[in-house]
This record gives sequence, structure tokens and C-alpha cells, in this order.
Amino acid sequence: MNFPRTRMRRLRKSPEIRNIIQETKLSKEDLIQPIFVKEELKKGQKEPIKTMPDEYRYSIDDSVIFAKELEKKGLKSTIIFGMPKGSKKDGIGSSAYDKEGVVQKTIKKLKKETNLVVISDVCLCQYTNHGHCGIVDENKILNDETLNYLSKVAISHAEAGADIIAPSDMMDGRILAIRENLDKNGFEDVLIMSYSAKYASSFYHPFRDAVSSSPSFGDRKTYQMDPSNAREAIREAELDLFEGADILMVKPALVYLDIIKSLKDNFNLPIATYNVSGEYSMLKAGIEKGYLTENAIMETLISIKRAGADLILSHFTKDILENL
Ligand SMILES: [Zn+2]
Repeated sequence: MNFPRTRMRRLRKSPEIRNIIQETKLSKEDLIQPIFVKEELKKGQKEPIKTMPDEYRYSIDDSVIFAKELEKKGLKSTIIFGMPKGSKKDGIGSSAYDKEGVVQKTIKKLKKETNLVVISDVCLCQYTNHGHCGIVDENKILNDETLNYLSKVAISHAEAGADIIAPSDMMDGRILAIRENLDKNGFEDVLIMSYSAKYASSFYHPFRDAVSSSPSFGDRKTYQMDPSNAREAIREAELDLFEGADILMVKPALVYLDIIKSLKDNFNLPIATYNVSGEYSMLKAGIEKGYLTENAIMETLISIKRAGADLILSHFTKDILENL
């Protein structure tokens, strides 16, 4: 049936009508706030991140205070990224699995003082002196040797009380190794949210400034994915599913909406995505300069949900929670 009997504008005629027929709605449950915790900072201290307006590195105590403030506004979950003291960095990232490490202490405190779902990022790059996500031998990133270390990190986070372990390293076989080691240690109820399709992206730039994790040599292209590849993301996700992942993640989000959609269409697992630092700072800078208005934030997050994301890790969470 065509015009004039069909009039699409009838569906748009008032805010009330538009509201009840809205296909995609963003809720507080969809959003995960990333928090950066720096071991060197003392209670009462937070450091602004130059390349990420309105984001800070917090001391352990202050990260928990920040999380509690957000919980009052309706936050349901957070993901923790740690920065050990510079002197603790070594070739194997041993401070990443220290029971008294910065992330472990933060998780314990968060689980004691909040009801948040606590997710922990599992990787070595913030803890190694070479800044790579794996164990290095003569400038080569060793896959199988790394799995043992990642498993140790995951177990230490589970011991501290993490609800979900999120490995972001992109080594082959790490989901299986971590799942087996968690189970062996009595953590069969701890979930794994796998960074399944993590691309070698320039949109991570502010994050690396935030946590000082730039590699000292080479780049991450031998383990992170080539931005040109979409079908390869399905293979990565398939492997993670078979290895025991509970949630699949695409990273970054905004310039990989097609990948989010593709994983949503191909897998019956919850799909998460990380609306990364560069995507955040790009919009923040545009708004600051007056090129964009704040409305661009909600439109961006809705586009990510519309593409199929069930969970969105976003630095905008803190800014928009109250409006949801
Ligand atoms: Zn890493």
C-alpha cells in the first residue's frame, strides 16, 4: 500500500509516539565503566589523563570512591585496568599476577564495598618492561609460553573476587588455557569475556597514554587483527566459543559496527564491545571545540547497541548514566 494511505510520518508525529515505537533503547545495564588504577598514587590522589578529557588515573581508594559514586547513579558493572609501579615491570609481567598487586587489591575492595559486577582485564602489556602482551624472546612474541602467565593472572583476579575475566592479549589458545586453569583452581563459576576480535587499531592511542603500555619495539600486528578483515573475526569468535568463552567482544566499536553485527548474527552468546579511548576522545574534542553537540554521545552509543552489542564498555558511561 502506497502513499497517500501509507504515511511514515504518522509514526513520528509526537515524542510519545516516537518513544513507544523506538526499536533500540539504551539502559544502565548495557554500560560498563572502565576504571584506571595506578599503584603509585596515594589515597586522595587522581591524575588527569591528557589525551582523555574528564578521565583520570585513580589510587586504589579513589577508584572505589569513584565506582561507588557511579553505583549510586545506577552503574551495574565496571572493568579494571591496573598500572603497577614502574619499578615492578619486568620481562614476564610478574606484577600482573601478584596477589597484592594493584588490580587484585582494587577488586577485593570493590567486591567488599559495592554490589557491582567486577570485570578484570587480563593482559601483560601494562606489566612488562617491553610493553608487549606476551612473553618476548629476541623480539618475537611467544604464544604458548604466554598462556601460562595469562592463566596465573586470571587465577589471581578470580582469587581476589572478580566476577568476569576479560583476556585482551589475542594469543591463540588463551581462552582454553584460562578456562582449564580457572576450573582446576575451583573457579568454574567465573565467567570469561573474551576480546575475540581485537583489531590493531590507531584508536587505542589515548589508552596507551593513560596506562603507559606502548610497546618498546615493533607493533602488535602479529597478534591483533588486521582492520581489513571481517571473516577472520568469525573464525576468532568460533575458536573462543569452542574454548569456553561466555561473552564475545569486538574492539574497537565504532569503526567495527559491521563486525559487531556479524558476531551477533552468527553466535548466540552475549556480544560485548569496547567503545575505546580514541572514539571517546574524538567526540569529546569535537564537543569541546563546538563542532558537535553532546547529543552525538547518545547517538554513538545507540548505533553500537543497534549494531547488536549487548554490553558496551565505554568511557562515556560516567557522563550519561544519570540520563538513562
Ligand atoms: Zn595487552
